[in-house]
Amino acid sequence: MKAPLVVGNWKMHGNEADCQALARAIVQGLKKQTAKAEVAIAPPFTALAAVKKIIRGSKISLAAQNCHWQPFGAFTGEVSPSMISELGCDYVILGHSERRHIFHETDDVIARKIGPAVAHGMRAILCVGETLAERQAKQTAKVIIRQLRIALKGLGNDVIEKLEIAYEPVWAIGTGQNASPAQVNQVHQRIRKVLVDAFGATKGAQLRILYGGSVKAENAAELTELDSVNGLLVGGASLKAETFVPIVRAF
Ligand code: PEP
Repeated sequence: MKAPLVVGNWKMHGNEADCQALARAIVQGLKKQTAKAEVAIAPPFTALAAVKKIIRGSKISLAAQNCHWQPFGAFTGEVSPSMISELGCDYVILGHSERRHIFHETDDVIARKIGPAVAHGMRAILCVGETLAERQAKQTAKVIIRQLRIALKGLGNDVIEKLEIAYEPVWAIGTGQNASPAQVNQVHQRIRKVLVDAFGATKGAQLRILYGGSVKAENAAELTELDSVNGLLVGGASLKAETFVPIVRAF
């Protein structure tokens, strides 16, 4: 297994100067002690170029929060894989629950983005996760399997090697209520089985499975000590170096 991956998703927060200051503070914070985990930060599109300049020379990678599947065209308001790749993105988050539930992105739409993102040299972070109603109706496994199967269908080996999966239960995102280690373990093991069934024992075991949903410095250790957790996707706590750096260090 590769080193664990910790991704900070800044969502729609921060103008260019704010994002540069935050990136600078994270670079400084991580300089003091080498971290075991790989780190990526995902500022808004408007700050990608500015943040890239700050992290150049550090080990921190740049991530975008979304992209379209087409290389160019009449898609008002969209940003293509080649555009974010040109700005220096190493990763792109796809299918975040806010894209699925606020902007109504379907499994099919998300599936169309993975190949083009990888073709432009980036690693794709595919987010999956159930809503509270789906969990209460005992549909968690069914939902996750559907989201994964549609997204993974027909992906070639070259793409699989550039893919990360993030399990983000919708009810845990931004709510302060993280999934318990037992809940995380159970879903991660189910995801691993889907990956092994789809790609075989060797390849299926190599993909990293990240957990996301109200991760904070206080609960990071109980998550990072699970063998099934190969990284974390962090929203709110990634907006300050003081709260993000300790999460990276939890690995
Ligand atoms: C996220 O947006 O991916 C996320 C996990 O947010 P938070 O950590 O704030 O729950």
